[in-house]
Amino acid sequence: MDWKDSADQAAFRAQVRQVIENKLPERYRAGDGDWERDRKSEDVRARDAATAWTAALAEQGWVAPHWPKEFGGAGLSPMEQFIFKQEMAQSGAPSVGGQGVSQLGPTLIVHGSDEQKAQHLPKILSGEVDWRQGYSEPGAGSDLASLQTRAIRDGDDYVINGQKIWTSLAHHADWLYVLTRTDPNAPKHRGISFLLVDKSTPGITVRPLIDMSFRHHFNEVFFEDVRVPASNRVGEENRGWYVGMTLLDYERSNITGAVANRRTLNKLMAYLGTPDGKAKSTLADNPGLRLEIADRAIETEVMFNYSFRIISMQARGLIPNYEASMSKLYNSELNQRTAHTGTKLFGLHSNVWPGDAHAAMEGEFTRTYVSSVSSTIAAGTSEIQRNIIATRGLGLPRG
Ligand SMILES: Cc1cc2nc3c(=O)[nH]c(=O)nc-3n(C[C@H](O)[C@H](O)[C@H](O)COP(=O)(O)OP(=O)(O)OC[C@H]3O[C@@H](n4cnc5c(N)ncnc54)[C@H](O)[C@@H]3O)c2cc1C
Repeated sequence: MDWKDSADQAAFRAQVRQVIENKLPERYRAGDGDWERDRKSEDVRARDAATAWTAALAEQGWVAPHWPKEFGGAGLSPMEQFIFKQEMAQSGAPSVGGQGVSQLGPTLIVHGSDEQKAQHLPKILSGEVDWRQGYSEPGAGSDLASLQTRAIRDGDDYVINGQKIWTSLAHHADWLYVLTRTDPNAPKHRGISFLLVDKSTPGITVRPLIDMSFRHHFNEVFFEDVRVPASNRVGEENRGWYVGMTLLDYERSNITGAVANRRTLNKLMAYLGTPDGKAKSTLADNPGLRLEIADRAIETEVMFNYSFRIISMQARGLIPNYEASMSKLYNSELNQRTAHTGTKLFGLHSNVWPGDAHAAMEGEFTRTYVSSVSSTIAAGTSEIQRNIIATRGLGLPRG
């Protein structure tokens, strides 16, 4: 692999940098705010920042970098997408469009009817409609095909009853894409249908689940006799498993994670050079901690190489499989190790939450120490990634 940009890639990188430099709202430059929450925030400055940034990306056609041009995407090559993501992550610029852009849109492009594409794709691109994923249930996570939420055909509608859980940001969503069981007698993967559900439909209740970093991110979603037009089914009845599993997120390289980790370490180094660097004495007394920081820096460079491996495969038209699991596993565990190193470094200061005068670096490491616990569970747990690496990568037999 050639590590340097070609002339065209360098020109594209410069163009992305320039748009970020000229158009990224101050709020995101300062590391505040998050597009998905800002979109519907009560704070008018937050809403304005989300709208302005969506407009700036839309002007370039970059809201959906990986969608084909005919559907309003940028049709970027895998390498250009990689450069785009890298530059966005480097500057802390949020991507826009949420799971509508990353997951539902590409699914509709492959499996949706012309009517479904015409109805939903433009509103995803404009940021008008936010989509969220209703897959997991209390008894169906890693073994998702065990899901029990029922959809029974009744005339031109399906009637849905059941419960979803861990539905990220469902409280901000306008629509949900939901896996439902339409044939309880079929083998479990073959009795599932993929439905598009307007969240304002009567019978839907969204209840918050507050996580251990005191954030409202997760929800439980209850469906009681929820009527959904049958025309909202994507693909054939009972073939929804294959629709739901269409691999949608092109960003499998985790480059955002590698860049974010490098940024965090750089910030840490800069802070240690300031007069109030709360970890200074610990660091001076403890060579082990100094070595630990060096380990994290080396591991971050290793993570970059995992990312480059994925992207070089995609650029050659190959579909990463166990290689994506390796990258996901390494990245999620690196997040946790980096947070752990930071909290050790700041000693007792790590026991206080952001906002407290005794917090080091505004409590950044305390917060990520708690929030990064979920990174080895979300999008497939570490055990599931290891199963994939063992069976598909190493060719070991299934247990
Ligand atoms: C931050 C975050 C965001 C999420 N957002 C969403 C969302 O928006 N929508 C949604 O539908 N879901 C969402 N989820 C749920 C997520 O998909 C599930 O938590 C995940 O699939 C694991 O399922 P589970 O929690 O039921 O754990 P389980 O599957 O019950 O697993 C419990 C433990 O058993 C292990 N285990 C399970 N099966 C095996 C096996 N075959 N071999 C070895 N070990 C095994 C697991 O690794 C884990 O340690 C989110 C989760 C997180 C953490």
